[in-house]
Amino acid sequence: MRRSRAFIPTTKEAPSDAVLASHIFLTRAGFISQVASGLYSYMPLAKKVINKIENIIHEEMAVIEAEEVELSFVAPADLWIESGRIDKFGKELLRFYDRKEKLFVLGPTHEEMMVDLVRNRIRSYKQLPINLYQIKTKFRDEVRPRYGLMRGREFIMKDGYSFHASIEDLDREFNAVENAYKKIITRLGLDFRVVEAYSGSIGGTGSKEIMVISDSGEDSLAICDSCEYGANIEIFMDMQKLDEDFDISTIKDISEVKGDNNCPNCSGKLSLTKGIEVGHIFKLGTTYSEALKAEYLDENGRTRHFIMGTYGMGVSRLVAAIIEQNHDDNGCIWTKETAPYMLNIMISNIKEESQVDLAEQLYIKFSEANVEVMLDDRKERFGFKMKDAELIGFPYTVIIGKELANGNVQIYNRKTGEKITLSTDEVYSKVLGLIKI
Ligand code: ATP
Ligand code: MG
Repeated sequence: MRRSRAFIPTTKEAPSDAVLASHIFLTRAGFISQVASGLYSYMPLAKKVINKIENIIHEEMAVIEAEEVELSFVAPADLWIESGRIDKFGKELLRFYDRKEKLFVLGPTHEEMMVDLVRNRIRSYKQLPINLYQIKTKFRDEVRPRYGLMRGREFIMKDGYSFHASIEDLDREFNAVENAYKKIITRLGLDFRVVEAYSGSIGGTGSKEIMVISDSGEDSLAICDSCEYGANIEIFMDMQKLDEDFDISTIKDISEVKGDNNCPNCSGKLSLTKGIEVGHIFKLGTTYSEALKAEYLDENGRTRHFIMGTYGMGVSRLVAAIIEQNHDDNGCIWTKETAPYMLNIMISNIKEESQVDLAEQLYIKFSEANVEVMLDDRKERFGFKMKDAELIGFPYTVIIGKELANGNVQIYNRKTGEKITLSTDEVYSKVLGLIKI
């Protein structure tokens, strides 16, 4: 892409209410634009990042043989009445009437819709298990939409639902999804923990959350120093306190809620940290299939309710989480797997014909090698263009400047700040080596 043609409206101004780095930098670097409270438009750079995250999700879902579907965003309220969730969900569920005065909701999650799709279509244990997922816009009329993409009202979620004929099979699938989620977050280059989670009012027999470790996270976690154990601190708490809006952030030590700091899994010590919930996987059991009368016939010809699992991952929240973990004072620092463009070619002085020629040659060569490359061909000052590149966060920038007179260019590494000087004929293969995933 030529920067002179690109729609990347970078700006010096941060949103007045922004406190998180991801909110500030994704706005300033021209990734997102707020439309109204909790509603965002994704501009080209954000769209590219989202597509990358989605591709990784699709690849890992294929490995565990989960199939993609797409359910309608608008759901008949009847289904929510049938499941009994219409009141439980409260005002987060946006409701409206169509022209025939029939009540609908905007899907905040799709358990009801998925059960409705599967019931009466899967009739025998022989057709089980299945795991269906989608990547779809969700709407929740959150009380406090804030922090940019972290907590939107409209947001993108990968939501999956599995159907089983036995608890053992649900357990197997749950583990498979947990492993797939770990792979996804690892591939995104993030530091995370899978923690035991509070199952809340949905019921079910167990749940885990995928937490990206970050001081800006809203969740408090107890994590073991010696083993992989981690728990959302909610699970140690007296749930009545939670219902009374107890402020978990006031907890300074795990022993305040647990009695001691010992890991329940090993002899290690638990310590307190903060996390961003990017995924939540849940063993639902038969809660929804009973409410919605979703049944199949077992080996003995007996009618049974489907045993279900549900698996969510916050795709748009992940974009924010990546930046929470990967930024500095100057802007975003994209990981290799998620960078909207891996490489930026900087023409320092557009009036220097030799600089332009080399930049054009490299641009074509990298493009032909399927490297996502930006060519900064704007008639702007070098300092301004470099600041812009810092803000956007290209992992690498090839700087074509004064050194070209000696046959040299520079490769700038956004993460380390390191600049290496090398000759013009070395640059192509060097960059290819650097950007390899
Ligand atoms: P939270 O406690 O943060 O409100 P939740 O428990 O309501 O999350 P789930 O219903 O488990 O979330 O949804 C699955 C995933 O969708 C979450 O793990 C999170 O990554 C994402 N998510 C939920 N609500 C939002 C939101 N308002 N904006 C962006 N992502 C969200
Ligand atoms: Mg929520």
